[in-house]
Amino acid sequence: MTKTCLKCGKSIDEAPEDPAADKYPSCAACWKEWTTYAVMVMNEMRLDMSLPEHRKALRKYERIFFGLEKSEGELEKKPETKPDHMH
Ligand SMILES: [Zn+2]
Repeated sequence: MTKTCLKCGKSIDEAPEDPAADKYPSCAACWKEWTTYAVMVMNEMRLDMSLPEHRKALRKYERIFFGLEKSEGELEKKPETKPDHMH
């Protein structure tokens, strides 16, 4: 039973330890990338995880990140570059 990473399409041989990762089959590397991105989104949009609406907003970013949902132009604040991005 091999799962495939939603993000990079590779088979997952090392699953993330985060229980939340069960929702999105993701390799450890991509999950780490998502958690880093999620922190940026939370900071930038001042999301409060105790508020259902904010959790919903983050979930949307999560789905878009993993390619389950298309951006609808609401991601103007989406950071285009990763902190370790190199050209
Ligand atoms: Zn991956």
